[in-house]
Amino acid sequence: MNFHPPKKIINFILCAFLLLGCRANASTSAPQPATPTKQSLSYFNTTVSLTFDDGDADNYLIRETLKANNLRATFYVISGKLGQDGFLTEAQVKDLYADGNEIGGHTLNHTKLVNLSVEELRKEICQDRLNLLSYGFKATSFAYPYGYHDAQVRQVVQDCGYNSARTVADGPESLPPAAPFALKAMPFIVQDTTFSKMMRYVRDVEAGGGGWAIFIFHHVCAGCDQYAVEYETFVKFAEWLGQQQTNNGLTIKTVDEALGGELQPGVAP
Ligand SMILES: [Zn+2]
Repeated sequence: MNFHPPKKIINFILCAFLLLGCRANASTSAPQPATPTKQSLSYFNTTVSLTFDDGDADNYLIRETLKANNLRATFYVISGKLGQDGFLTEAQVKDLYADGNEIGGHTLNHTKLVNLSVEELRKEICQDRLNLLSYGFKATSFAYPYGYHDAQVRQVVQDCGYNSARTVADGPESLPPAAPFALKAMPFIVQDTTFSKMMRYVRDVEAGGGGWAIFIFHHVCAGCDQYAVEYETFVKFAEWLGQQQTNNGLTIKTVDEALGGELQPGVAP
Protein backbone atom coordinates (compact mmCIF):
# COMPACT_ATOMS: atom_id res chain seq x y z
CA MET A 1 0.00 0.00 0.00
CA ASN A 2 1.49 3.29 -1.03
CA PHE A 3 1.60 6.12 1.45
CA HIS A 4 1.28 9.61 0.08
CA PRO A 5 1.89 12.18 2.81
CA PRO A 6 -0.12 15.31 2.24
CA LYS A 7 1.80 18.05 0.53
CA LYS A 8 1.57 20.23 3.65
CA ILE A 9 3.45 17.66 5.69
CA ILE A 10 6.18 17.40 3.07
CA ASN A 11 6.52 21.14 3.03
CA PHE A 12 6.67 21.23 6.80
CA ILE A 13 9.45 18.65 6.91
CA LEU A 14 11.44 20.45 4.23
CA CYS A 15 10.99 23.72 6.02
CA ALA A 16 12.11 22.21 9.31
CA PHE A 17 15.40 21.27 7.66
CA LEU A 18 15.79 24.51 5.83
CA LEU A 19 14.23 26.89 8.26
CA LEU A 20 16.11 29.99 7.26
CA GLY A 21 15.78 29.23 3.62
CA CYS A 22 12.04 28.76 3.97
CA ARG A 23 11.64 32.02 5.78
CA ALA A 24 13.62 33.81 3.17
CA ASN A 25 11.57 32.12 0.56
CA ALA A 26 8.34 33.15 2.25
CA SER A 27 9.30 36.77 2.24
CA THR A 28 10.72 36.95 -1.23
CA SER A 29 8.45 34.60 -3.10
CA ALA A 30 5.76 35.84 -5.41
CA PRO A 31 3.56 38.37 -3.62
CA GLN A 32 0.25 37.29 -2.13
CA PRO A 33 -2.23 36.94 -4.95
CA ALA A 34 -2.71 40.64 -5.38
CA THR A 35 -6.27 41.84 -5.05
CA PRO A 36 -7.04 43.10 -8.51
CA THR A 37 -7.29 46.87 -8.59
CA LYS A 38 -10.84 46.61 -9.86
CA GLN A 39 -11.98 44.83 -6.71
CA SER A 40 -10.17 47.15 -4.36
CA LEU A 41 -11.90 50.24 -5.73
CA SER A 42 -14.10 52.04 -3.31
CA TYR A 43 -17.10 54.21 -4.07
CA PHE A 44 -17.44 56.58 -1.17
CA ASN A 45 -18.29 59.51 -3.45
CA THR A 46 -20.83 57.80 -5.65
CA THR A 47 -24.57 57.37 -5.30
CA VAL A 48 -26.50 55.10 -7.63
CA SER A 49 -30.24 55.22 -8.27
CA LEU A 50 -31.94 52.43 -10.17
CA THR A 51 -34.97 53.78 -11.99
CA PHE A 52 -37.53 51.83 -14.02
CA ASP A 53 -39.76 53.66 -16.45
CA ASP A 54 -43.32 52.84 -17.50
CA GLY A 55 -44.29 50.19 -14.93
CA ASP A 56 -43.86 47.28 -17.33
CA ALA A 57 -45.33 44.06 -15.93
CA ASP A 58 -41.98 42.26 -16.20
CA ASN A 59 -40.49 44.65 -13.63
CA TYR A 60 -42.14 42.52 -10.97
CA LEU A 61 -39.61 39.76 -11.78
CA ILE A 62 -36.84 41.64 -10.02
CA ARG A 63 -38.76 42.33 -6.83
CA GLU A 64 -36.97 39.54 -4.96
CA THR A 65 -33.60 40.41 -6.51
CA LEU A 66 -33.83 43.92 -5.11
CA LYS A 67 -34.80 42.64 -1.67
CA ALA A 68 -32.12 39.94 -1.63
CA ASN A 69 -29.41 42.52 -2.32
CA ASN A 70 -30.76 45.20 0.00
CA LEU A 71 -31.49 47.57 -2.87
CA ARG A 72 -34.39 49.93 -3.39
CA ALA A 73 -35.36 51.29 -6.79
CA THR A 74 -37.58 54.03 -8.16
CA PHE A 75 -40.44 52.89 -10.40
CA TYR A 76 -41.89 55.70 -12.51
CA VAL A 77 -45.30 54.30 -13.37
CA ILE A 78 -48.03 55.50 -15.75
CA SER A 79 -51.03 55.56 -13.43
CA GLY A 80 -53.54 55.45 -16.31
CA LYS A 81 -52.07 52.14 -17.47
CA LEU A 82 -51.74 50.22 -14.22
CA GLY A 83 -53.42 46.85 -14.57
CA GLN A 84 -53.61 47.03 -18.34
CA ASP A 85 -52.10 44.28 -20.43
CA GLY A 86 -48.31 44.44 -20.12
CA PHE A 87 -48.26 46.76 -17.14
CA LEU A 88 -47.90 46.25 -13.40
CA THR A 89 -51.13 46.01 -11.47
CA GLU A 90 -52.04 48.31 -8.62
CA ALA A 91 -51.45 45.43 -6.17
CA GLN A 92 -47.98 44.74 -7.59
CA VAL A 93 -46.99 48.38 -7.38
CA LYS A 94 -48.17 48.40 -3.77
CA ASP A 95 -45.99 45.33 -3.10
CA LEU A 96 -42.96 47.08 -4.54
CA TYR A 97 -43.70 50.16 -2.45
CA ALA A 98 -44.13 48.06 0.69
CA ASP A 99 -40.60 46.71 0.14
CA GLY A 100 -39.22 50.24 0.36
CA ASN A 101 -39.09 51.00 -3.34
CA GLU A 102 -40.22 54.40 -4.54
CA ILE A 103 -43.18 54.92 -6.86
CA GLY A 104 -42.85 58.04 -8.97
CA GLY A 105 -45.00 59.68 -11.63
CA HIS A 106 -44.65 59.31 -15.41
CA THR A 107 -47.95 60.93 -16.50
CA LEU A 108 -51.45 59.49 -16.89
CA ASN A 109 -50.96 58.20 -20.44
CA HIS A 110 -47.25 58.46 -21.25
CA THR A 111 -47.86 61.57 -23.30
CA LYS A 112 -45.14 63.65 -24.94
CA LEU A 113 -45.39 66.77 -22.84
CA VAL A 114 -44.12 69.43 -25.17
CA ASN A 115 -46.67 71.36 -27.25
CA LEU A 116 -49.53 70.72 -24.82
CA SER A 117 -51.64 73.42 -23.20
CA VAL A 118 -51.16 74.08 -19.50
CA GLU A 119 -54.60 72.49 -18.90
CA GLU A 120 -53.55 69.33 -20.70
CA LEU A 121 -50.23 69.29 -18.89
CA ARG A 122 -51.89 69.64 -15.50
CA LYS A 123 -54.24 66.77 -16.27
CA GLU A 124 -51.36 64.50 -17.33
CA ILE A 125 -49.09 65.45 -14.46
CA CYS A 126 -51.21 66.64 -11.52
CA GLN A 127 -53.95 64.01 -11.95
CA ASP A 128 -51.36 61.27 -12.30
CA ARG A 129 -49.77 62.42 -9.06
CA LEU A 130 -53.17 62.56 -7.31
CA ASN A 131 -53.70 58.92 -8.35
CA LEU A 132 -50.38 57.89 -6.84
CA LEU A 133 -51.12 59.79 -3.65
CA SER A 134 -54.54 58.11 -3.43
CA TYR A 135 -52.79 54.72 -3.44
CA GLY A 136 -50.77 55.90 -0.47
CA PHE A 137 -47.47 56.47 -2.27
CA LYS A 138 -45.09 59.28 -1.36
CA ALA A 139 -45.14 60.75 -4.85
CA THR A 140 -42.22 63.20 -4.94
CA SER A 141 -40.39 62.17 -8.10
CA PHE A 142 -41.37 62.47 -11.74
CA ALA A 143 -39.81 61.35 -15.04
CA TYR A 144 -40.53 62.97 -18.41
CA PRO A 145 -41.93 60.51 -20.96
CA TYR A 146 -39.30 60.12 -23.71
CA GLY A 147 -37.33 62.82 -21.89
CA TYR A 148 -39.26 65.69 -23.51
CA HIS A 149 -39.50 68.85 -21.44
CA ASP A 150 -39.32 72.60 -21.74
CA ALA A 151 -39.64 75.52 -19.33
CA GLN A 152 -43.46 75.32 -19.24
CA VAL A 153 -43.45 71.56 -18.64
CA ARG A 154 -40.88 71.88 -15.86
CA GLN A 155 -42.99 74.57 -14.22
CA VAL A 156 -46.14 72.45 -14.29
CA VAL A 157 -44.30 69.48 -12.80
CA GLN A 158 -43.20 71.73 -9.98
CA ASP A 159 -46.69 73.25 -9.61
CA CYS A 160 -48.20 69.77 -9.33
CA GLY A 161 -46.12 69.23 -6.20
CA TYR A 162 -43.18 67.13 -7.34
CA ASN A 163 -39.70 67.62 -5.90
CA SER A 164 -37.79 66.45 -8.95
CA ALA A 165 -38.07 65.32 -12.56
CA ARG A 166 -35.68 63.05 -14.39
CA THR A 167 -34.58 63.47 -18.00
CA VAL A 168 -32.97 60.72 -20.07
CA ALA A 169 -29.45 62.00 -20.77
CA ASP A 170 -26.32 63.93 -19.82
CA GLY A 171 -25.50 62.05 -16.61
CA PRO A 172 -23.90 61.68 -14.20
CA GLU A 173 -25.75 64.16 -12.02
CA SER A 174 -24.26 65.93 -9.01
CA LEU A 175 -25.62 65.76 -5.49
CA PRO A 176 -27.31 68.03 -4.71
CA PRO A 177 -28.29 68.57 -8.35
CA ALA A 178 -28.10 72.04 -9.88
CA ALA A 179 -31.52 71.59 -11.53
CA PRO A 180 -33.79 69.10 -9.73
CA PHE A 181 -36.44 69.40 -12.47
CA ALA A 182 -33.97 68.31 -15.12
CA LEU A 183 -32.12 65.47 -13.41
CA LYS A 184 -29.41 64.06 -15.64
CA ALA A 185 -29.33 60.33 -16.22
CA MET A 186 -26.85 57.75 -17.46
CA PRO A 187 -27.31 56.35 -20.99
CA PHE A 188 -30.36 54.09 -21.39
CA ILE A 189 -29.86 50.47 -20.49
CA VAL A 190 -30.66 48.67 -23.73
CA GLN A 191 -30.57 45.09 -24.96
CA ASP A 192 -26.86 45.05 -25.63
CA THR A 193 -25.75 46.90 -22.49
CA THR A 194 -23.54 44.36 -20.77
CA PHE A 195 -22.99 43.83 -17.07
CA SER A 196 -19.39 45.10 -17.51
CA LYS A 197 -20.64 48.27 -19.09
CA MET A 198 -23.01 48.93 -16.19
CA MET A 199 -20.16 48.43 -13.71
CA ARG A 200 -18.01 50.72 -15.79
CA TYR A 201 -20.59 53.50 -15.60
CA VAL A 202 -20.36 53.36 -11.80
CA ARG A 203 -16.55 53.16 -11.77
CA ASP A 204 -16.22 56.06 -14.16
CA VAL A 205 -18.40 58.26 -11.97
CA GLU A 206 -16.19 57.54 -8.96
CA ALA A 207 -13.04 57.96 -11.02
CA GLY A 208 -14.33 61.32 -12.22
CA GLY A 209 -14.64 62.61 -8.66
CA GLY A 210 -17.97 61.07 -7.70
CA GLY A 211 -21.57 62.02 -8.28
CA TRP A 212 -25.00 60.55 -8.78
CA ALA A 213 -25.44 57.84 -11.39
CA ILE A 214 -29.13 57.51 -12.24
CA PHE A 215 -29.72 54.37 -14.28
CA ILE A 216 -32.78 54.04 -16.52
CA PHE A 217 -34.27 50.61 -17.09
CA HIS A 218 -37.46 49.69 -18.91
CA HIS A 219 -38.32 46.05 -19.61
CA VAL A 220 -36.76 43.07 -17.84
CA CYS A 221 -36.75 40.33 -20.47
CA ALA A 222 -34.64 38.57 -23.06
CA GLY A 223 -35.16 40.35 -26.31
CA CYS A 224 -38.79 41.45 -25.89
CA ASP A 225 -37.85 45.07 -26.51
CA GLN A 226 -34.86 47.19 -27.46
CA TYR A 227 -35.09 48.91 -24.08
CA ALA A 228 -34.68 45.79 -22.02
CA VAL A 229 -32.25 44.22 -19.62
CA GLU A 230 -32.06 40.46 -19.39
CA TYR A 231 -33.09 39.12 -16.02
CA GLU A 232 -29.73 37.37 -15.46
CA THR A 233 -27.81 40.52 -16.33
CA PHE A 234 -29.84 42.56 -13.89
CA VAL A 235 -29.32 39.96 -11.16
CA LYS A 236 -25.53 40.12 -11.70
CA PHE A 237 -25.56 43.90 -11.55
CA ALA A 238 -27.76 43.90 -8.44
CA GLU A 239 -25.45 41.44 -6.70
CA TRP A 240 -22.42 43.54 -7.58
CA LEU A 241 -24.15 46.72 -6.38
CA GLY A 242 -25.15 45.01 -3.15
CA GLN A 243 -21.54 43.95 -2.55
CA GLN A 244 -20.19 47.44 -3.27
CA GLN A 245 -22.81 48.87 -0.94
CA THR A 246 -21.81 46.49 1.85
CA ASN A 247 -18.05 46.53 1.37
CA ASN A 248 -16.87 49.49 -0.65
CA GLY A 249 -18.82 52.55 0.34
CA LEU A 250 -21.22 52.75 -2.60
CA THR A 251 -24.52 54.43 -1.76
CA ILE A 252 -27.66 53.16 -3.46
CA LYS A 253 -30.80 55.18 -2.94
CA THR A 254 -34.13 55.88 -4.51
CA VAL A 255 -34.38 59.28 -6.17
CA ASP A 256 -36.48 60.54 -3.26
CA GLU A 257 -33.95 59.30 -0.72
CA ALA A 258 -31.03 60.82 -2.62
CA LEU A 259 -32.71 64.23 -2.87
CA GLY A 260 -34.51 64.42 0.44
CA GLY A 261 -37.36 66.88 0.74
CA GLU A 262 -40.89 66.91 2.08
CA LEU A 263 -43.95 65.45 0.45
CA GLN A 264 -46.00 68.29 -1.04
CA PRO A 265 -49.78 68.16 -0.92
CA GLY A 266 -51.70 66.97 -3.97
CA VAL A 267 -52.74 69.63 -6.46
CA ALA A 268 -55.95 69.50 -8.49
CA PRO A 269 -55.42 69.56 -12.28
ZN1 LIG B 1 -41.57 56.13 -20.41
